[in-house]
Amino acid sequence: KLSNRLEAVTNYIPPGKRVADIGSDHAYLPCYAVKKGIVPFAIAGEVVEGPYQSAKKQVKLEGLENQISVRKGNGLEVIQPGEVDCITIAGMGGALIATILEDGKSKLGSVHRLILQPNLSAISIRTWLIENGWELIAEEILEEDGKIYEILAAEKGKPLNPYTDTKKGLLMGPFLMEQKSEVFKNKWIGEKKNWERILLQLEKAAFSEDTEKRKKELKEKIKMAEEV
Ligand code: SAM
Repeated sequence: KLSNRLEAVTNYIPPGKRVADIGSDHAYLPCYAVKKGIVPFAIAGEVVEGPYQSAKKQVKLEGLENQISVRKGNGLEVIQPGEVDCITIAGMGGALIATILEDGKSKLGSVHRLILQPNLSAISIRTWLIENGWELIAEEILEEDGKIYEILAAEKGKPLNPYTDTKKGLLMGPFLMEQKSEVFKNKWIGEKKNWERILLQLEKAAFSEDTEKRKKELKEKIKMAEEV
């Protein structure tokens, strides 16, 4: 059975389109999407040999070699221009996902939708999207096995700034702020506790411009968490 997290990611894949899953590990996501008939063709990209072999093994095991192409390479370099309509990148840090998109910009010409699932620092992705002409169209937050995950779906468009309060929106997500689910609240209660602990440590530290700056930033973030 596919994890709830990856299943939630596949829910945003436009049916009938060709998808590339980057950092696919066991290729569970593309296998599921093809078996379910959501997509007719998928690419599973992996940069590390071990996971690349796992992906090949899984695709063979499921008899999906004709529909899933497993490729070894860094980020979007495994995709030929025009090959896919949709890209999924899941289970990595937001900064790494943003770097993969930035380095692979030349491959995004035919891509209409990005579905990104950062394990942390979704803010890096929201920032990249805005700066590169992608419009956030949906967000989801879910908890599985005690961990909280965010899913961001974006389409090419005018990134009309949908953020009512830019800094807060970038950090927490405009759709998630609107939905204000229990999981969302728990996430920011947890983050706030964390920041307060760090702040307490900094209060004890010797004065320096750097600590003052960090304290100010933390206080600002704590206030944002309080507001939601
Ligand atoms: N996407 C799967 C999921 O969400 O369950 C696997 C997540 S796993 C934690 C992250 C995978 O991304 C690893 O297998 C790693 O080798 C791969 N990866 C990391 N950086 C990559 C890059 N630049 N290009 C392709 N794959 C990458």
